[in-house]
Amino acid sequence: MERINVIRLAAAALAVVTTFGVVAQKKYPEREKMTPGMSEYWTPQPKIVTPGNITTNSAPSDAIVLFDGKDLSAWQSPNGDPAAWDVHDGVMTVNKKKGDILTKQKFDNFQLHLEWCVPENISGSSQARGNSGVFLQDMYEVQILDCYNNETYVNGQTGSIYKQTPPLANAMRKPGEWNVYDIIYTAPVFKEDGTYRVPPTVTVIQNGVVLQNNTTILGTTEYIGFPRVVKHGAGPIRLQSHGDPSEPISFRNIWIREM
Ligand code: MG
Repeated sequence: MERINVIRLAAAALAVVTTFGVVAQKKYPEREKMTPGMSEYWTPQPKIVTPGNITTNSAPSDAIVLFDGKDLSAWQSPNGDPAAWDVHDGVMTVNKKKGDILTKQKFDNFQLHLEWCVPENISGSSQARGNSGVFLQDMYEVQILDCYNNETYVNGQTGSIYKQTPPLANAMRKPGEWNVYDIIYTAPVFKEDGTYRVPPTVTVIQNGVVLQNNTTILGTTEYIGFPRVVKHGAGPIRLQSHGDPSEPISFRNIWIREM
């Protein structure tokens, strides 16, 4: 084939490709890089509320007991190995070397009760002080942090939907005292295309004080950038082993009721 014909053929092929949009060559600007601080804000700080004397709430008759102080049989590591946090004196304590733990069972809509305690000798500040968290359906984090006399960005403090919605109040007890969480969660409903038909919602109560009131969850928990909408079904409860260097926190009396 003569060279001129090759060129004509190539030009014609390119015209076809362009006409039918087979190859998208159009250049768009690169998305700008985000930093963690871009999704953190510090004011207004939620009011401090001294909680009443709510201490514990043993499991109702229809609850699934996830931790009764004896063993981690309801939990596993992210890779499926046995959960390796430390069980002692009726509580379990985060083992920072072993990573997060997740329930073996998956859940849709639920009422979750758990109690957590920051050690009396806790050190550090802002996010590096007793950081943990509860991930609902392994997707959406309700923050756990020692926010007693410890300020941080408000959409990352105790009872925030992390990096989304700050809590309505700061109802922390002192380090060394037990905090009680009751979390009522409604799972999302998805459209065929994977976006929310009905977004997930959550109510969070700490020590009898409402921190989240039927709050709409915007999407996945992201340390950097915006929440994403990712289609999912039933999921486990995940407890976070955070990488901060402060002393590890403990949990006790964890149960869940499916709704
Ligand atoms: Mg956390």
